[in-house]
Amino acid sequence: MQCSRCARQGMVEIRMNIAGEDVLFHSCGRCEAKQWSSPEGPLSLDRVLDMARKH
Ligand SMILES: [Zn+2]
Repeated sequence: MQCSRCARQGMVEIRMNIAGEDVLFHSCGRCEAKQWSSPEGPLSLDRVLDMARKH
């Protein structure tokens, strides 16, 4: 995965499970951009917090 902010390749990926959903947390080692995604596509932080809250 490529960082959308600084275009660095190879963001750190951490697989997590939130409210029964598989999500991936991506963190860039260069600019510290953070991104979330699910198998269906990108997730906003608001969406992730919403999922965690409902559970
Ligand atoms: Zn970056």
